[in-house]
Amino acid sequence: MATQTIAAAINPWHVAQQQFDLAAVHLNLSPGLRKVLREPKRELTVHFPVKMDDGTVEVFTGYRVQHNLSRGPAKGGIRYHQDVTLDEVKALAMWMTWKCAVVGIPFGGGKGGVRVDPKKLSLREVEGLTRRFTTEISILIAPDRDIPAPDVNTNAQTMAWMMDTYSMNVGYTAPAVVTGKPVALGGSEGRTEATGRGVVYSIVEAARHLDMDLGKCRVAVQGFGNVGGVSARLIAAEGATVVGLSDWMGAIYRPQGLDVDAVLAWVQEHRTVMGFPGAREITNGELLELDCDILIPAALETQITAANAGKIRARMIAEAANGPTTPEADEILHKNGRFVIPDILCNAGGVTVSYFEWVQDLERDFWNIGHVNEKLREVMTKAFASTLEMSLKQEVSMRTAAYMLAVQRVADATSVRGLYP
Ligand code: GLU
Repeated sequence: MATQTIAAAINPWHVAQQQFDLAAVHLNLSPGLRKVLREPKRELTVHFPVKMDDGTVEVFTGYRVQHNLSRGPAKGGIRYHQDVTLDEVKALAMWMTWKCAVVGIPFGGGKGGVRVDPKKLSLREVEGLTRRFTTEISILIAPDRDIPAPDVNTNAQTMAWMMDTYSMNVGYTAPAVVTGKPVALGGSEGRTEATGRGVVYSIVEAARHLDMDLGKCRVAVQGFGNVGGVSARLIAAEGATVVGLSDWMGAIYRPQGLDVDAVLAWVQEHRTVMGFPGAREITNGELLELDCDILIPAALETQITAANAGKIRARMIAEAANGPTTPEADEILHKNGRFVIPDILCNAGGVTVSYFEWVQDLERDFWNIGHVNEKLREVMTKAFASTLEMSLKQEVSMRTAAYMLAVQRVADATSVRGLYP
């Protein structure tokens, strides 16, 4: 709980700008480019009504932010969460710009969010909210302009409603306006698993570099949504022992190892990992400090802070979440010799397969799962290798190296396009 209270006070936008500033110094970026890349290009705030099941009307607030479009259309997810703020969405949009650049896919960064706790809404209310929000942001989204995708508390069904709403408004079916759709609507095979799969591909590469035997590694995962769940399942399939898992209610720990599939089945029934038989219940804060080899933060931003970074015992931290570590915590982890696979690299598998989905939709030609996963592995291992090379050559952390690669690519695209008018 203590972690969450401290985390709530940290503004993710300030974190994102601080991370960018550091990269700009390392790259000796010109003052003009620094000013341009430090701010988002567009921020849209919408307040919109939704009719609730009891006949009353509620007004919700949502955002869509486009950070930088130099390398292509805006790309990034939509999240539903009661704590969403404009600053959080700005940070997430900026991180998408760097994420797309670090894996070399031709998109700029965007992000959206609605301030709502979807657990408190019926399915019909969530559908109504999604359709009206899509209409409100339709002045920005389009297959060649800005392409949303799932994020925290949104999924393939949400994307189906968004695609349908957009298509109804324009008068024809436009599958490429969103990614992460059901396969029946032009979604890609492997998209649902892609973020977690990419996380595990990058852990495999990191383990090889650090000479860690995954078969002997103990892993703790914070967050058991899509990304945390898939990462836990796939890292167990690599032979690692998952000793800790958590969700919004709390965490469970079993030093001899947890059966991830059994926990997934438990969560299906009980909606939380808590109460899982044979495991000790601990807090989310304690989970981060567990005695383990690999820590996978797969929940929300600013979880690893100056307050707990020094207590983290894992040798490798694989950032499946966006922005889980503050810059102050980063310094502590670096000093303590922790190997951090930074979010913009580690969790880029999701947007990479989103890119594959968008290409398949535009070409009306669909790939099999083997091809999708093989291409994903190729992209992830190449990006990991370039980041590691930069990190070793420049003697900087993996985060700074990933930022240097990404920011340089975006800066090059921005400056070669020139200023209009
Ligand atoms: N929401 C995911 C992310 O944070 C995926 C974005 C996308 O596929 O566009 O990377």
